[in-house]
Amino acid sequence: MAKLLEGKPLAETIKEGIKQEIATLKNKPVLASVMVGENAGAESYTKSQKKAAEALGIEYNLEKLPGDTQESALIEFIKKLNADKATNGIIIQMPLPQGIDYKKISAFIAPEKDVEGMHPANIGKIIFGKAKILPCTAAAVMELLSASGADLYGKEVVVVGHSEIVGKPLALLLLEKFATVTVCHIGTSKAGKLEEHVRKAEILIVAVGKAGLIKGDWVKDGAIVIDVGINRVAEKIVGDVEFEPAEKKAAQITPVPGGVGPLTVTMLMRNLVEAAKLQQA
Ligand code: NDP
Repeated sequence: MAKLLEGKPLAETIKEGIKQEIATLKNKPVLASVMVGENAGAESYTKSQKKAAEALGIEYNLEKLPGDTQESALIEFIKKLNADKATNGIIIQMPLPQGIDYKKISAFIAPEKDVEGMHPANIGKIIFGKAKILPCTAAAVMELLSASGADLYGKEVVVVGHSEIVGKPLALLLLEKFATVTVCHIGTSKAGKLEEHVRKAEILIVAVGKAGLIKGDWVKDGAIVIDVGINRVAEKIVGDVEFEPAEKKAAQITPVPGGVGPLTVTMLMRNLVEAAKLQQA
């Protein structure tokens, strides 16, 4: 039976480090969270972000803009936050109203205030191994792998899912550690080759968003499995990997919920502290 790789205790340890770092800063770090229009999901997400921020001694300013805000007005608002010395980090809540392109908007956030780590300049730095601010979910996975004790050097690592926020940056971070990385995606599945790749994985990371996509018996004996997926099935949250059969084969596996999730918001706060340090330097 696999050991559970739980995110919560790890997040608590990382938060202690964040608090200590905050204590060394000249000013309390400030995070601006920009929300356009009303959305119940985003509202509840910002509440939990605010709680997490304030518990660490971070000021969380929710900036609510009306639902009919135009793209150009939002860009001007972001420019104002970029110029505001008291604001250390900026996040844009999803969803944005129709007609506003998130990718376009987020590129206007100053890279040193981009706490989601998705600005092209920050993504580019990952290629050179110089990134200080990393995409939160990819960073959360790297923390879990580090906590697993796995030496990534030369390991067969298979990443399923090639999204810009998880799979792609993760593949680069793993390469930086000299893992042998295979990235699978819809094309792999359509070619009927997903199982073949998954079976080879000494470390398997899945970020797709399809419950049960990865069959438990595909998991290699002794593998480490990180399941990023979040799927609601019959009122329950499950991952992308069939948990019970996979748990019998893996050496370590993340639970869903309780694996990657609790770490993601912690990574956002860590990025904010990094951002504040960059701005102080
Ligand atoms: P995206 O939808 O952006 O990406 C999903 C990826 O999976 C795409 O690369 C897609 O390929 C690929 N894919 C789709 N179907 C298949 C298939 N049958 N076989 C192989 N690959 C496939 O999702 P995200 O990366 O944003 O999120 C992935 C999952 O992780 C979701 O469940 C999300 O909720 C969860 N998540 C969890 C977080 C956490 O904190 N725990 C944070 C962020 C995400 P293509 O684009 O080519 O179709």
